[in-house]
Amino acid sequence: MVKRQYAVIGLGRFGGSVCRALSEQGMEVLGIDMDEERVNEYSSIATQAVIADSTDEGVLKSLGIRNFEHVIVAIGENLQASILTTLILKDMGISKITVKAQNDYHERVLVKIGADRIIHPERDMGVRIAHQVVSKNVLDYLELSDEYSIAEMAAGDKMSGKSLQEMNIRAKYGCNVVAIKRGNEVVVSPHADQEVEKGDILIVIGGEKDISRLEKDLM
Ligand code: ADP
Repeated sequence: MVKRQYAVIGLGRFGGSVCRALSEQGMEVLGIDMDEERVNEYSSIATQAVIADSTDEGVLKSLGIRNFEHVIVAIGENLQASILTTLILKDMGISKITVKAQNDYHERVLVKIGADRIIHPERDMGVRIAHQVVSKNVLDYLELSDEYSIAEMAAGDKMSGKSLQEMNIRAKYGCNVVAIKRGNEVVVSPHADQEVEKGDILIVIGGEKDISRLEKDLM
């Protein structure tokens, strides 16, 4: 596997988890935090972990951060440090900067200064969990945009033995079944005559309300 270079700034719960997952995927990752304890914790997990304040441009330069393909800014509470770090990285010409936003105001500033991707892990996870707890059939839920979401749902009795066409999912609910998982098998872009069995996992894309209707009627 080609090793790609990532740097994660801020090794809190979120940044630390990103750092660990990248390492586990065999990626080269530099972890940066101003807190010595955090850095010690990740020194055996990341390719390299260093104590540094990312709001210090000179320090980032000396770490050779401009050679990194993708930098993830995972500074939590300190909005000023997160914004300043992003600005410095942008000025340095880093090609891909992903930043964890604390709230909508933070996001607006990050958009203005040119962060490539802004993520809201707590907010997004909250939405996913809410959908999972409301319906026992929804295994996962991902908002793609304000309008569209993807849901992973387990087929119940009402779907069992019926084809997608019989259930009329596209016309009636405006949702598309993009894949069906049955055990280890995955049918991608299933045909209309594909029959669904109880326990199949349907990957459905559609509007939030449409997915909810489908869930209520057919699951
Ligand atoms: P989480 O909610 O993901 O746990 P935290 O706020 O606890 O987020 O963690 C953010 C991390 O970012 C902390 O370990 C903190 O030391 C680090 N951090 C904050 N400011 C800077 C900075 N200027 N330079 C480097 N690391 C920083």
